[in-house]
Amino acid sequence: MSRPPHVDTDTNAGSDADAPPTATAPADPSSIDTSRRPFVLVWEVTQACDLACDHCRADATPARHPDELTSAEGTRLLEQAREFGPGQLVVLSGGDPLARPDLVDLVEYGTDLGLRMTLTPSGTSSLTPETVADLADAGVRRMALSLDGATAASHDAFRGEDGSFEQTVAAARAAREAGLPLQINTTVCAETVAELPALCDLVADLGAVLWSVFFLVPVGRGRVLDPISPERAERVMEWLTEVSEDAPFGVKTTEAPHYRRVAIQRRRDASDAPPTDGIGRRLGITAGDGFAFVSHTGELFPSGFLPASAGNVRDGGLVERYRESDLFRSLRDRDALGGKCGACEFRHVCGGSRSRAYAHTGDPLASDPLCAYVPAEYDGPMPTTRSAGD
Ligand code: SF4
Repeated sequence: MSRPPHVDTDTNAGSDADAPPTATAPADPSSIDTSRRPFVLVWEVTQACDLACDHCRADATPARHPDELTSAEGTRLLEQAREFGPGQLVVLSGGDPLARPDLVDLVEYGTDLGLRMTLTPSGTSSLTPETVADLADAGVRRMALSLDGATAASHDAFRGEDGSFEQTVAAARAAREAGLPLQINTTVCAETVAELPALCDLVADLGAVLWSVFFLVPVGRGRVLDPISPERAERVMEWLTEVSEDAPFGVKTTEAPHYRRVAIQRRRDASDAPPTDGIGRRLGITAGDGFAFVSHTGELFPSGFLPASAGNVRDGGLVERYRESDLFRSLRDRDALGGKCGACEFRHVCGGSRSRAYAHTGDPLASDPLCAYVPAEYDGPMPTTRSAGD
């Protein structure tokens, strides 16, 4: 009998599709009350980045934005994060967080507050072994790096910068040497999907503890890329559940919570699994429901891929807005979902990507167009999406 696949939380945010590191949180997402606190709080510390990746959510630019949160505003934001409760997981994202000269100080301040500080730096020449060691000394609990191709040619073409692959691999090895747990993030779209098996081998070779597989949401520069079809996404998720059974690392999806539905269906099909396993249980996190994102200028979004604001938290109000704003409350109500997600028996364990629904329709409660599943009793309209790469 094989063990059940490791199906980690679904989250969404980070810069340029860099999913946040997650496993250093104080509890698993099914054991925290996500109406009271996010499992993951991402702070996009800057939009500045030297890379020009095809899929960049942040539309990053080389220069820092003049209205970026200051160091003092940033430390106040970290103090607000502490109000969620002990051990709040905070992800410093970008852009490239290393574009901020106060990054190490922010990590140290958050760590001293009792926050669990993690980081999604870009693979650039700034990410030297010395910088990695400084960040580890400051208290970083995990580092997430992006690899979107298994070779220098494919990764660098996707990232828009020669040398990015080598620098990322070197930084990954430096993280391991500094004792930092490593997460690898990969974007799945028509341009990258064929390299997933080779990337899987690379993730294992680098000694990562988690592979976060991000299914493209067409926002920012990602609009120019082609998503894969729902049918291809289904096959990728089935393959990922197989990978997760034997891989030396955990596997999670980002912006594809139907990975949980696929895993549950797979267990149901196994002769040694009870037929109702998992249904109805509250699992994982999605935009606004266990997940929150603060932009470089202080806007509170449900995720980095769902840029609808619940207000600015530059001067306070982070906790109250997360708990009480109409936007965040509606995203936590799975019975408010529309279309086939609203009719789906898996909505409490999945719920679909609210960010993708928003990107395609402007309604964050609409159906996720990447999901191939159709509930048995559903006869309403089907979501549509463009795709390629099949
Ligand atoms: S229809 Fe919606 S809720 Fe159901 S599995 Fe698909 S994405 Fe999830």
